[in-house]
Amino acid sequence: MKHTLVAAALATLFGTAFAAGNAPDAVVIGAGGAGLTAAVTLTDLGRHVVVLEKMPMLGGNTVRAEGGINAAETPQQKKAGIPDTIEQFYKDTMKGGHNINDPALVHTLTAHAKDAVAWLESLGADLQTVGRAGGATYARAHRPTDGSAIGPEVIRVLWKATKDRNIDVRTQSRADELITDKSGAVAGVKVSTKDGKTYTLDTKAVVLATGGFGANQDLLVKYQPKLKGYATTNQPGATGDGILLAEKAGAALVDMTKIQAHPTAAPNGTLISESVRGDGAILVNAEGKRFTNELLTRDVVSANELKQPGKFAWIVWDEATRKTAKLIDSYKKLGLTVEGNTVAELARAMNVPADALEATMAKYAADQKAGKDTAFGRPDMPQPLTTAPFYAVKVQPAVHHTMGGVKIDTKAEVLNASGKAIPGLFAAGEVTGGVHGGNRLGGNAQADIVTFGRIAGQSADAYLNTVK
Ligand code: ADP
Repeated sequence: MKHTLVAAALATLFGTAFAAGNAPDAVVIGAGGAGLTAAVTLTDLGRHVVVLEKMPMLGGNTVRAEGGINAAETPQQKKAGIPDTIEQFYKDTMKGGHNINDPALVHTLTAHAKDAVAWLESLGADLQTVGRAGGATYARAHRPTDGSAIGPEVIRVLWKATKDRNIDVRTQSRADELITDKSGAVAGVKVSTKDGKTYTLDTKAVVLATGGFGANQDLLVKYQPKLKGYATTNQPGATGDGILLAEKAGAALVDMTKIQAHPTAAPNGTLISESVRGDGAILVNAEGKRFTNELLTRDVVSANELKQPGKFAWIVWDEATRKTAKLIDSYKKLGLTVEGNTVAELARAMNVPADALEATMAKYAADQKAGKDTAFGRPDMPQPLTTAPFYAVKVQPAVHHTMGGVKIDTKAEVLNASGKAIPGLFAAGEVTGGVHGGNRLGGNAQADIVTFGRIAGQSADAYLNTVK
């Protein structure tokens, strides 16, 4: 009795975990978009969850995401008259991934992404505008009305939902090991805290949502030696821990060599979102010349950029483009842009030949007016880029997304080498492989984490019903 009262008092002070002792129904590892989605889903199904996050901050790479969340056949698209279909979304994702994606996972992603968008909206997200990302036949990247970045919006609503539900989120708490029982089923997680303490959480279900390994040079180079010395757009916690933990527990890994470089990272690693090109910007090289259709997939644009003198490019836009989205405005505020009141002035600030850049811009404006990019066949030219002032940011490819990871099925169950589910182990988001194949399309990471985060939560709940 006394014990219960003390526990109740502690629960009021410290949250529910204390009251429930050291054995939550499920442990979610990683507090990015996939992990928080799984945690909210499990909690809404009546499960007691502990979320472990090794960094001091929540949000992982998710909070850095800029573009949008892809979904087809949404009310937003219908309202805007966009004739997109789930089938076309499927085809674009497979083609963008070089057709090595797991077709079953892509069917699940593309069929349920619209439910993921609706679910985020039910939590209070503003996803009212739809933009176009590279490799997409139609505009399907949903984002906030003012064109601001998607990641902070997703994390904002997930964090609020987490707090509203009083979910036990432990920052600076790293999962070091998965404990399995004699049958190979999940039995617990070993945790270490920043001050060096270690403890074990007993649990029958674990959702791995630890993200990718884009900030782990050793692992990147192990799988892709040519990436030695590459910059990264990833947060420092993206070190692939979950992949290593799962591998030790018997999980199969897929597509580990498939690592995406994003073509437009500023020298300090800040990503200039693909949506900036989608909204109108072009790429020019050190000679002031365009060299690619800017809306091709990230792998192709990166490869084209690396063929240019100095292996870099400038992304260029004008005042009219700046005004279309808060996100674009933010690069100026961050001090990343060089500027000019005329194209020649901009050229001087970029240190490229003024006459060449003037010719490039004039040709682009004429093509835009005629509705046909005669130079590179860019399918969509929203802006003529003729309104002063003009802006540019020097960009280079940087490691952005690791497509490979833990092998899962459509229920987000982690599979072993013989294709059998490891009992009690689920995974969602960048820690998994197979959804994006050889190359991830812009806007598909957010679709992936919310769609499969929800599925992982639902599957973990269903599994817990079978192991009472
Ligand atoms: P996703 O987009 O798949 O949700 P994110 O990168 O947004 O992935 O989030 C993954 C989160 O997992 C990050 O916040 C990262 O710091 C965290 N993380 C990675 N490894 C561990 C670990 N061993 N223990 C706890 N948290 C981890």
